[in-house]
Amino acid sequence: MTNEGNAHSGNAHSQNTNAPLDGTLVAPGTPLYSTPPSSNSSSPTTANAAASAAASALPGPGTFLSPNSIITSTLKGYVTTQKGPTSSSPLTISVTPVNPLPTLSPGSLTLCLCLRSTPSTITCQILSILTSVNSTPTFVPLKTSTHLGQIQSSDITTVSTSSPPSPDSPDFLGLQSYRPSDLLLTRITSSTPSSYNLSTAEDCLGVIEVKCQCGGKMVPENFKTVKCKECGREEERKVAKP
Ligand SMILES: [Zn+2]
Repeated sequence: MTNEGNAHSGNAHSQNTNAPLDGTLVAPGTPLYSTPPSSNSSSPTTANAAASAAASALPGPGTFLSPNSIITSTLKGYVTTQKGPTSSSPLTISVTPVNPLPTLSPGSLTLCLCLRSTPSTITCQILSILTSVNSTPTFVPLKTSTHLGQIQSSDITTVSTSSPPSPDSPDFLGLQSYRPSDLLLTRITSSTPSSYNLSTAEDCLGVIEVKCQCGGKMVPENFKTVKCKECGREEERKVAKP
């Protein structure tokens, strides 16, 4: 990249753009780039106006091309303009979010919905990930797709007994710790292409909310019991220490 190249590119685009400088902080809905009404066409249509805009710049991640051919920010973030491979290639205008979406990775704390419970494995849908937003711990919902996680019975609790209960025993933690529709706090321990391995073997991890048979909400009573606010019913769970 040379100064000449930058100057040439800047001049070429400054004739018909109002693209903001790289690094500008913009809000959702901020217009970033537009082309003037076409002087070649007496009755420009939305379609050819859009084509005109697309010829000189392309909407990148964090933007979209509005019906009036303005590349517009979809989120709060910083503008990036990227030149194409040749001098006549269109610019790509992107907006990088101020708070990048967190990614699921080993060590992440997650909020999960229990989907299935078998003696050996709990299957969960990962709903959100705990991250720091402006230094405040916040659960950020995951919207991109369904993320599945599994808790093996050995990763449910750190409570150890000299003789581990057999899967046939009513004391077996896999049966009584979590049930479908429970909300759990878990930590990701590892990942596979299709799912995440989760653990609740920490005091602060486990059930935080359970749906009662009466429709009420069961909340932690102590480290191994949840109690319904409505009917007083109690059930055993591996409870997250508040
Ligand atoms: Zn109840």
